Amino acid sequence: MEIISPSVVIETPREHIADYMRQLEKFGRTCHKSEDKIDDSSADAFVDKYLIKLGHESVLEHCSISARFICDRSASHQLVRHRIGSFSQESQRAVDYSANGIQVICPPTIRENPDAFATWSHHVKQAELTYNALLAAGAPPEDARSVLPNCTKTEIIATFNLRQWRHIFEARALNPRAQWQIRELMADLLKQMHGLLPVVFADLQQKILYKLVFSNQGQQEEG
Ligand SMILES: Cc1cc2nc3c(=O)[nH]c(=O)nc-3n(C[C@H](O)[C@H](O)[C@H](O)COP(=O)(O)OP(=O)(O)OC[C@H]3O[C@@H](n4cnc5c(N)ncnc54)[C@H](O)[C@@H]3O)c2cc1C
Repeated sequence: MEIISPSVVIETPREHIADYMRQLEKFGRTCHKSEDKIDDSSADAFVDKYLIKLGHESVLEHCSISARFICDRSASHQLVRHRIGSFSQESQRAVDYSANGIQVICPPTIRENPDAFATWSHHVKQAELTYNALLAAGAPPEDARSVLPNCTKTEIIATFNLRQWRHIFEARALNPRAQWQIRELMADLLKQMHGLLPVVFADLQQKILYKLVFSNQGQQEEG
């Protein structure tokens, strides 16, 4: 058993994403036939004003981004609840984990609590031993996996259009009630997407930074 950290990377080629602002302006201006206003520097203002601030968000559906998440099965289950997208996930039916051992993700509240961590580690190691024993007894991986814990690492590619990513960031990065792992992953991914498409994600990135400053101030006041 190996404990790893969750992570997320953008898989869509940067050069592909670099053309999105030009595409969004071209597609959006089709509605009012204002393509004559397109020049080398007109895209940012158009996308910001008409698509984001005035909420003509359906235009954002023309461009998609794929991201690879390394997370546990409880986080991936939350991700796949978002229906307007496509997924490719590591199959526990196909992969036999007995050769290299399972990788797992440990929640911080458990990692930072020695008693809880000892109990958690014991349980996870036991689950792995049981999985290996089931395989040795002839069970196929698709059935032996029934004893693997929720904290087992998975890898999943998710593809959503830009409108749906904005919706997911609202629900999973900006929402304080979202679970810690998906919130951390989505906050990281929002930062990465903001780096590539600042105009499309500036309002959300600003909200998250504001929340961070606000919560740090709250912690200082409490301390
Ligand atoms: C903090 C938190 C706690 C949660 N707790 C639970 C829980 O305890 N149990 C549970 O089962 N789920 C839970 N969920 C999942 C949640 O109920 C949604 O299923 C999930 O977040 C997908 O988001 P969405 O409904 O916005 O739809 P998405 O699939 O992301 O779709 C995007 C948008 O498209 C539209 N849309 C999509 N499909 C339809 C449709 N069929 N009809 C009409 N409009 C549609 C809606 O406007 C929707 O918001 C939780 C989510 C969060 C963020």
